[in-house]
Amino acid sequence: MKQVAIIGGGLGGLIAAIRLAQHGVPVMLFEKKNYPFHRVCGEYVSNETLPFLRQSGLFPDKLDVPFISRFQISAVNGRSSILPLDLGGFGISRFTFDHFLAQKAREAGVRVLENCEVQHVSREKNRFLIETSAEKHTADVVIGSFGKRSRLDVQFNRKFTHKRSPYVGVKYHIKTDHPNDLIALHNFNGGYLGISNIEAGQTNLCYLVHRSRLKEFGSIPALEKGVLFRNPLIRTIYSNATFLFGKPEVINEVSFASKEPVCNHMLMVGDSAGMITPLCGNGMAIAIHSAKLASDLILKQLSENRSGEWLEKTYTEAWHATFASRLRFGRLVQHYLFGSSFSSNLAVHLAVYVRQIAMQMIRQSHGKPF
Ligand SMILES: Cc1cc2nc3c(=O)[nH]c(=O)nc-3n(C[C@H](O)[C@H](O)[C@H](O)COP(=O)(O)OP(=O)(O)OC[C@H]3O[C@@H](n4cnc5c(N)ncnc54)[C@H](O)[C@@H]3O)c2cc1C
Repeated sequence: MKQVAIIGGGLGGLIAAIRLAQHGVPVMLFEKKNYPFHRVCGEYVSNETLPFLRQSGLFPDKLDVPFISRFQISAVNGRSSILPLDLGGFGISRFTFDHFLAQKAREAGVRVLENCEVQHVSREKNRFLIETSAEKHTADVVIGSFGKRSRLDVQFNRKFTHKRSPYVGVKYHIKTDHPNDLIALHNFNGGYLGISNIEAGQTNLCYLVHRSRLKEFGSIPALEKGVLFRNPLIRTIYSNATFLFGKPEVINEVSFASKEPVCNHMLMVGDSAGMITPLCGNGMAIAIHSAKLASDLILKQLSENRSGEWLEKTYTEAWHATFASRLRFGRLVQHYLFGSSFSSNLAVHLAVYVRQIAMQMIRQSHGKPF
């Protein structure tokens, strides 16, 4: 039986590992951190994932997660509109969801190597050599699921690494009185903030901001006071919340540049193949769906004894057919919202005041259930 190696144990890597192991394929998964851990993420999972998660026994039924069916959008001045979400989603922290899936992976027989950062990957005579600081491993097939940006992207000289990305993400968990069925997107000058509930009566508060705004104010509290609080709805959220982290989770280099779904013969899934703007609330669904796509094709390759070239070509075509237009749409929306303050205000005001436009934007960014 061929050996599959998966580099990166976020949603994409974990789902691919579980699916392959459930079908009897030997899988080792490398994750540089130790579960459980927090990540910067809005933690709203699109319901398009529900059929697959339930069918595979990967939906966390016991957690009583909140289901979200309404969407509120506000402009910088606090004017807002509430719309129904056709498909909707559910809220769960990455701390809990990734930990739950890592446990499922172990139960399925995956060799989960935590605290194990892959430093280098090379290929010789159709076999991959995977090097961590302590060990060397070989594999026949490799899935790259190392997220939005990793040292391996630099090793492979991927084009998007040549340019710095100007976005910074910030996340808190809070206790507040936020309706269970509502996700809200509040705009401020230079970014937007999302708020929705997760498990255990907690609420996720997460925003994306242009780095220049953070630089201008010098610190996160000063930025929040000077910029975010100008939207009265955001100010009210902060004044009525108990913050559960000592300090927020912060990431930078959030890039929405296009990437290749196959790189150096590795199948890339999730953010490693391309990141959709968080505005669309769909990165996790795409990570799960692309992991299913990649693992199903690997299973087909193994059972039908197909070549590596076939696998790479078929995955590339399937990935483009399934995700490319959504990512393009996300880039367009991101461009207008983070463009000039004129284009940003216009885009948000249109969404707030012209219901049809907002509904169309929501439909465009969501995928179909799989
Ligand atoms: C501000 C913000 C808000 C967001 N909100 C939402 C939302 O509400 N809903 C939604 O669906 N999506 C959201 N997203 C997007 C979502 O978080 C990502 O699309 C999703 O996490 C992608 O999953 P992944 O498995 O591809 O990558 P990740 O979850 O990032 O996992 C990658 C893993 O690879 C590991 N890794 C990296 N390099 C190595 C290495 N060399 N060796 C070993 N391990 C390595 C990392 O430690 C990490 O665990 C948001 C993103 C941002 C920035």
